Amino acid sequence: MEIPVRPLEVLGSSWMSTSTGWGRVLPFSSTSSSQVDFWRHPNSLGHPVDLRVPFPSLQGVKKFLDSHNFSYSIMIEDVQELLDEEKESMRRSRRVKRSSRMFDFASYHTIDEIYEWMDVLVEDHPKLVSKVQMGQSYEQRPLYVLKFSTGGWNRPAIWLDTGIHAREWITQATGVWTANKIAKEYGQDPSVTAILDSMDIFLEIVTNPDGFAFTHSSNRLWRKTRSINAGSRCVGVDPNRNWDAGFGGAGSSSNPCSEIYHGPHAHSEREVRAIVDFIRAHGNVKSVISIHSYSQMLLFPYGYRRAPNELAKKAVSDLAAVFGTKYTYGSIANTIYMAGGTTVDWAYDNGVKYSFTLELRDSGRYGFLLPSSQIVPTATETWPALLDIMVHVLEHPY
Ligand SMILES: [Zn+2]
Repeated sequence: MEIPVRPLEVLGSSWMSTSTGWGRVLPFSSTSSSQVDFWRHPNSLGHPVDLRVPFPSLQGVKKFLDSHNFSYSIMIEDVQELLDEEKESMRRSRRVKRSSRMFDFASYHTIDEIYEWMDVLVEDHPKLVSKVQMGQSYEQRPLYVLKFSTGGWNRPAIWLDTGIHAREWITQATGVWTANKIAKEYGQDPSVTAILDSMDIFLEIVTNPDGFAFTHSSNRLWRKTRSINAGSRCVGVDPNRNWDAGFGGAGSSSNPCSEIYHGPHAHSEREVRAIVDFIRAHGNVKSVISIHSYSQMLLFPYGYRRAPNELAKKAVSDLAAVFGTKYTYGSIANTIYMAGGTTVDWAYDNGVKYSFTLELRDSGRYGFLLPSSQIVPTATETWPALLDIMVHVLEHPY
């Protein structure tokens, strides 16, 4: 096991329960070389590292940390408990939905529920919203993007995606809320109206549908795609290491069992390829905002000739003004860690002028298992930051 810089935070997890199969499926079937699951990866910048440790390894890991004088704290005593709570709250929401026929934005949803809701949104706003199928996933699920447009031909566009990493459930939930917000605010909010009067917005909510379906059916903490890797028993590619920009570089792995496996070649994943083809064919995408969790950061690629610091600063301060949630911002390499093959590097290299990664809540208390009670607050505070970027793009397209 490799442990880099301090301080460390350890996520203790109990894998005693076999009723759900977690105990057998999860403990690092995907990471043969180590007994831990990195929720926040090691870097050289002195940030804490978050680890999920299976119960049987807990004593060994603690012993290791103590013997190397790493300080750490337990953030989640029992991951299974959070998983159970999450399941129960989804069940409750479904019961409410059946009685009211309303979509519950404050609950996590399956891919079927989200796809069904997208059709309702299109039906409710036929002049503004349409659904475009960009292709199919590895397991042949449709790849849908919502298009918000008031007409025109090939207008300058803003691209948003959520959920390219399957387990980052707060992002797909924020995507749903945001799609609804855009549709509702056109004709109401002057900024949204101005944006959509001269630009189009594309929003892909379930960017990694196979992985997302798998987080619901089998392994809540699955990150990658679900493609079979030739010659390996390990499944999936990290779709945010698969882009043709520094492909195979630092912060990615050539080991198919790794959570950051970059894949056999750039754009090997259909889910990635579909976006590449779409953005290239469109030819007029001005901004790509790729939404992840967690860490509370607004990041831009290292290569910017003029770093968009002022814009980033405004966006995070407008975000903080809503509920006081603190975000950091800066270039990816200086703020989080180097990572080859990411969406935003590819977008920037391919002429997209404004390319950002957002890392939503939280800063580690719940990590990927953010309680559903935080969905609406997270989406609500993220909205002004997104709007800042979109307005800036509108005002400075070139
Ligand atoms: Zn991510």
